[in-house]
Amino acid sequence: MRFRYRNAQTGKSEKRALTGVDFLWLILQHVLPKGFRRARNFGFLHANCKRLIALLHLLLKFDPKRFMPARKERPAMLCACCGAVMVIVRTRIRTTSSAVVAVLPRIGVAI
Ligand SMILES: [Zn+2]
Repeated sequence: MRFRYRNAQTGKSEKRALTGVDFLWLILQHVLPKGFRRARNFGFLHANCKRLIALLHLLLKFDPKRFMPARKERPAMLCACCGAVMVIVRTRIRTTSSAVVAVLPRIGVAI
């Protein structure tokens, strides 16, 4: 059996040829025994538990921003006409994640 994979150390795509049994052995190494769950998919490590993680940060007095890299400053936007530094006055990006669209029922009008 031949397959292509990405080498994690070099980051490059490589090809490999194995027997079917050896290929299945490689795949089955990642299958957990019955009754086990991956730790990253369970409890407060689950992707849907961001609020719980924020609560844990608060309770444990842990500031994750201390370990985050500093943001890079963006270069100033210059006006194409006069070359002056432009200031962002307003953006059109909504603050809510999903737009709520009101669907009004159609009302029939009899004439
Ligand atoms: Zn200008």
